[in-house]
Amino acid sequence: MRDFIYHAPTTIDEALALLDEHGEDARPIAGGTAMVNLLKQNMVLADHLVGLGKLPGLRGVSQTNGSLHIGALSRHREVELSPEVLAHSPLLAEAYSKVATVRVRNMATVGGGLTHADPAQDPPPSLMVLDAHVVLTSSKGTRELPVSDLFVDYYESALEPGELLTELVVPQSPKGAKTVYLKFLPRTEDDYATVSVAALATVENGICQDIRVALGAVGPTPIRATAVEAALKGQQVTPDAVRAAADAVADQVDPLTDFRGSDDYKRDMAVVFTRRALEQVLLAS
Ligand SMILES: Cc1cc2nc3c(=O)[nH]c(=O)nc-3n(C[C@H](O)[C@H](O)[C@H](O)COP(=O)(O)OP(=O)(O)OC[C@H]3O[C@@H](n4cnc5c(N)ncnc54)[C@H](O)[C@@H]3O)c2cc1C
Repeated sequence: MRDFIYHAPTTIDEALALLDEHGEDARPIAGGTAMVNLLKQNMVLADHLVGLGKLPGLRGVSQTNGSLHIGALSRHREVELSPEVLAHSPLLAEAYSKVATVRVRNMATVGGGLTHADPAQDPPPSLMVLDAHVVLTSSKGTRELPVSDLFVDYYESALEPGELLTELVVPQSPKGAKTVYLKFLPRTEDDYATVSVAALATVENGICQDIRVALGAVGPTPIRATAVEAALKGQQVTPDAVRAAADAVADQVDPLTDFRGSDDYKRDMAVVFTRRALEQVLLAS
């Protein structure tokens, strides 16, 4: 690993000034669970690391106007165990509980996970069906971005140079919504997903009113399964309709062949797990 200077700013302004001053030579570091490996493998060549751990006000969960606000420095384990998260969006607690091991979840932060932009990570599909957004802060000000627009390519997020992810905001789900997160783990319990699916649905008088489906580990970024959603929205919910809608995901995914399986296998598993997720949110009583 090559040498770097570690900065430990104590205000957000100080951190942003360091990122501006050192430009491409500087990278933020939060929990370090991804960054330390990237540095060791020389996949990140940074002369300056800007440690975020001492920044005030970026850790913890609160609620405003029905929305959940999660600070970027909150640990995965804190989200998983937060009574507020469990009461507001149990799907989110479930998704964070599926990440790796307790040891990793005790270190990895919400902001670090989302900006790392590994398409196989657990939280993004659930955040996408919950219509969550992130708050990005730079020396020029703040902007909001839907989590669905945060991922650009393998390990590439939409953050501009000099921007920090400072907050995750999760709105209230529609009344009566059912949710599910399924992670297909054929190897070990603490592995990254081979395929993952999150779904949210509301049904009234047998008609599908709202349906949101997102998948992870099936392409360069997590995706919203828009073809599946279009096939179901406003339709009578039947086992045949669910099966036909799940089949539509095959044309939307673009998985890589790797040690977790071939692209064809993952495409088939995307259909199977989408169907299972739909059955849980649309057909189960
Ligand atoms: C063995 C192992 C297994 C894992 N398995 C899973 C899994 O199954 N599912 C899963 O979802 N995750 C898994 N993870 C966690 C995940 O892949 C990342 O390591 C973790 O989420 C990164 O969080 P961090 O706070 O440690 O980020 P860091 O390592 O500190 O940083 C990661 C990236 O984010 C940037 N960054 C950090 N914070 C910010 C911020 N606030 N604003 C802007 N940029 C920022 C850094 O510059 C860096 O590019 C696993 C990790 C390990 C080590």
